[in-house]
Amino acid sequence: MIAYLGRIVDDNDAESKLDDDVSSLSKSLDLQGSIENGDVSSLASKDFGGLYSVKPLFLIKPSGAEDISRVVKLASRTSNLTVAARGNGHSINGQAMAEGGLVIDMRSTEKNHFEFLPINGSHYIDVSGGALWEDVLTRCVSRYGYAPRSWTDYLSLTVGGTLSNAGVSGQAFRYGPQTSNVTELEVVTGKGEITVCSETLNSELFFGVLGGLGQFGVITRARIKLQQAPDMVGISVKWIRVVYSEFEEFTRDAEFLVTQKEGESFDYVEGFVFCNNDDPFNGWPSVPLDPGHEFNPTHISQTAGSVLYCLEVAFHYRNSDHPTVDTAVNGLLGRLRFVEGLKSQVDVSYTKFLLRVNRAEEQVKSNGTCDGPHPWLNLFVSKSDVVNFDRTVFKTMLKDGVGGPMLIYPLLRSKWDDRTSVVLPEGEIFYIVALLRFVPNGPSVEKLVAQNREIVNWCIKVGLDFKLYLPHYQSKEDWERHFGNRWSRFVERKASFDPMAILAPGQNIFRRDPSNIITSREF
Ligand code: FAD
Repeated sequence: MIAYLGRIVDDNDAESKLDDDVSSLSKSLDLQGSIENGDVSSLASKDFGGLYSVKPLFLIKPSGAEDISRVVKLASRTSNLTVAARGNGHSINGQAMAEGGLVIDMRSTEKNHFEFLPINGSHYIDVSGGALWEDVLTRCVSRYGYAPRSWTDYLSLTVGGTLSNAGVSGQAFRYGPQTSNVTELEVVTGKGEITVCSETLNSELFFGVLGGLGQFGVITRARIKLQQAPDMVGISVKWIRVVYSEFEEFTRDAEFLVTQKEGESFDYVEGFVFCNNDDPFNGWPSVPLDPGHEFNPTHISQTAGSVLYCLEVAFHYRNSDHPTVDTAVNGLLGRLRFVEGLKSQVDVSYTKFLLRVNRAEEQVKSNGTCDGPHPWLNLFVSKSDVVNFDRTVFKTMLKDGVGGPMLIYPLLRSKWDDRTSVVLPEGEIFYIVALLRFVPNGPSVEKLVAQNREIVNWCIKVGLDFKLYLPHYQSKEDWERHFGNRWSRFVERKASFDPMAILAPGQNIFRRDPSNIITSREF
């Protein structure tokens, strides 16, 4: 078998034999799932970013952990094959790709696990790493009335893909990211071992894999904490946007809301920056929640700058609470200093609220805005540096917008677990910044990638306390700087769980080299 794979890799004539090769590979691996050729048009050579495309050797559609273990073990017996788990391919920079390697389509394992688990009065759901969060919504929330505590804004992402990064949305200020809301994982390590892990069982693997950028194992099952969902029937979410012209007032109010006790604030807090003009994608029209309402710019003071700020909040309720809801919401809004007259509000069902970005995606897909590359940039910026960031990046570099949302909202470090592989800026409060660029007819993608680089370089140059979220770096030096004093722990985890550097080569952190087994001593 090893000689056989070596032949595929080395043989220039291999293309013509691939069909035969696929069938014999499939037989010798004895998979329950299936194997396809990795041609350049296959889904394994693309991602949402659209900036990179590399050709894998094979696309594997496993039926579960056993198949994945066989594939990883096979790769470990060759000199050069790598293995990339592909969630839903919503990475920007080829992180789920494997050039000349084996790409595992995790979506084919989606249906393997779906088990609602009441344990000692708490509720959990066991799901496959390849399940989409929208599947969790339909199968768990709709059927049992329980919901994960921490979501992402967009739900067509896989559980394994977001847990390998963090998984952040407007609930994370209260419950932490998705990585703080999982109690057990089943993982196939880079040695091909199928291992169950948790805070108390194989804990180094458990915390390593969470936010581990796919470096230590493939998540095949996750146990997710649940809470009772708001009413599923009818309206149960008040979704509100209010506008600020001053960044300091926006951050003061956002920080006030995220530091209140549970039950004394909104259930969801996010925010975004938009241009102080009538541009349909970047400006005032991007604010109203109800398409029937227009943004009235006469409320904005003449002295306002090039950009404005929108705080987006949501309040969940059960129908039985209804009479008190308006009092609670108005009480909270009364403590905020937004521009009077610039409030937009709609009442929606819980499901409609959670699927808000999926709906927006359908719209942009239908008008072609979603086509083309997406050079997105995500950062975590410390509270201590966020005013400087606003002044230089939002008010100056990006004063004309990015053709899509520019999210910014505060998160609390104490809700994140330091034992995971995620790295954060210092200090309790930090901001997530997401520049979600859509570029159908705008500047060339090269210019936008260069602008992202300029922003990151500026952050480094002025010594800003920041980390990239969904990081993308090319050199070992950059990765070392990114992980800072957590780099040696990251390398030790690699040495323990994937010493041959087989997994997730698209992250460009470790390189598979037959002459090199990663050991923690080398760093
Ligand atoms: P992929 O892109 O397929 O994979 C990402 C990485 O994880 C790769 O390195 C891959 O090898 C690895 N991986 C995938 N599956 C597994 C697994 N089972 N086990 C181990 N490693 C695995 N992020 C947020 O936090 N909040 C948001 O609200 C949010 N919204 C988004 C909206 C859109 C439209 C897009 C494009 C992205 C968004 N993201 C958000 C970012 C998203 O979380 C990451 O891009 C994530 O990696 C995508 O998940 P995926 O399932 O597509 O993973």
